[in-house]
Amino acid sequence: MAQKTATLLPEVQKSYGDLKNFIGGKWVDSSATEWLDDTNPATGEKIARVPLSPKEDVDAAVQAAKAAWEEWRETPPISRGRHFFALRDLMEQHFEELARIVSQDHGKIIDEARGEVRRAIENVEVAAGIPSLMMGYNLEDGAAAGIDEEVLYQPMGVFAGISPFNFPAMVQFWFWPYAVATGNTWVAKPSEQDPLVQEYMADLVDKAGFPPGVFNLVNGAKDAVEGICDHPDIRGVSFVGSTAIAKLVYARAASHGKRVQCGGGAKNLLVVLPDAKLDRIVPNMISSVYGTAGERCLAGSVVVGLEDAHDAVRRKFSDAASKLKVGYGLDEAVQMGPVITRKHQERVLGYIDKGEQEGAEVALDGRKIHVSGYPGYFVGPTVLDGVSPDMTVAKDEIFGPVANFMTLETLDDAIEWINKSPYGNAASIYTSSGKAARDFRYRARAGSIGINLGIAAAMAYFPFGGMKNSFFGDLHPQGRDAVRFFTESKVVITRWI
Ligand code: NAD
Repeated sequence: MAQKTATLLPEVQKSYGDLKNFIGGKWVDSSATEWLDDTNPATGEKIARVPLSPKEDVDAAVQAAKAAWEEWRETPPISRGRHFFALRDLMEQHFEELARIVSQDHGKIIDEARGEVRRAIENVEVAAGIPSLMMGYNLEDGAAAGIDEEVLYQPMGVFAGISPFNFPAMVQFWFWPYAVATGNTWVAKPSEQDPLVQEYMADLVDKAGFPPGVFNLVNGAKDAVEGICDHPDIRGVSFVGSTAIAKLVYARAASHGKRVQCGGGAKNLLVVLPDAKLDRIVPNMISSVYGTAGERCLAGSVVVGLEDAHDAVRRKFSDAASKLKVGYGLDEAVQMGPVITRKHQERVLGYIDKGEQEGAEVALDGRKIHVSGYPGYFVGPTVLDGVSPDMTVAKDEIFGPVANFMTLETLDDAIEWINKSPYGNAASIYTSSGKAARDFRYRARAGSIGINLGIAAAMAYFPFGGMKNSFFGDLHPQGRDAVRFFTESKVVITRWI
């Protein structure tokens, strides 16, 4: 089918068969009666079958996690951390395979897949420093003379993590290294749309010597998620996905008294001031909008050039977008891959049609793209111009390679648009003015702010997450916030008699 070129990397495996669950240190068959085909988004070929595990499978994983907990929490933090050093080494050894599986299963280009695996490793590296991250604090004579007071942070039990399709390797690693390093045990539920890399990771976790039951993995979708939310022995849930499901999971898990953190969808604005250095920023804007085919919660979606910046930005941007090479992500010469499924491709195409129907000009049309040799789910880079704030494409999350150029007059208008949006994941400003950048940073209500940067993705030692409908909960994933999320504090007051 596909023409082999020197730049085409081989797949780790052509096909992965029927997937299993990893429970109590063993690969076990799911008791699912429903299965989903997992396809390679570039070729459209089936590469695995994913069991849609019922709640009984979740229960089996929770029982294994519960049984492992007592001993794991008594393992000193430094010893727990050593398992993460071992895992880190294994992830480095298998770095290229992990990235290739991500590219094959998700569709993103190999360099983006490598970047994603790097991010996963960085979270392991940060979690390995758990003795310092988890320390409490104390004060001699803190309560009265001769009475000392201290705070301890303790693990809570079994936690579970539910992740989206767009970062199949990384998002589980925003959660579980912190949960497990702090002394909890874990049940992972990856996206049913591209779960392969997590299966591969589970083998590495096993090889790294984590005791059986500390890390478990259940494949599935709605039933498994509901089983997690309702399970009486799960103390907390980490979720990332669309806003609609984030709201459901937040409400359902919280109604059972669980700790919950839920990342949701996004609609991110890139605002360009007339003093921005266009030659330097356009490549960055292109990567923000079209990286991972627009399937990123930090992706720029609405682009605003203020005053006379609009025409120049749009011209240079469209020109650069039209030159992007679209194809199979494992081809190293390719700059943008397909979207995840046929259904999602149709959804993105539907949004472009809708934008046109509502009066936007299709300045660059990705609807009819044909990628020779690959019959998968491609949408070409698209630019809509003349988008107004009331249009559907200016409001809804499209999650595809579509830039929506909107006209606004002033920076105040842009900040007002951001603050009125129901989403608050990310917002970026491109400018040479320190004053404008500071105003923007101060006033824009979004969890990740980019200054001359279109993807403001926090490193593992900083928290990652949004505001408003982009996040429900108190503490974001990653870093010290995650350590707080996965532990409860206890105050001890000692009278020395
Ligand atoms: P999704 O909401 O469809 O799925 C996320 C998870 O929820 C999956 O594991 C899925 O199995 C489960 N799920 C789906 N439908 C369900 C239902 N009815 N009941 C219970 N569980 C259900 O999201 P997606 O399409 O996989 O991912 C894309 C979305 O994730 C986008 O909206 C994107 O913005 C968002 N996202 C957000 C962040 C963030 O940090 N805020 C990061 C990455 C992705």
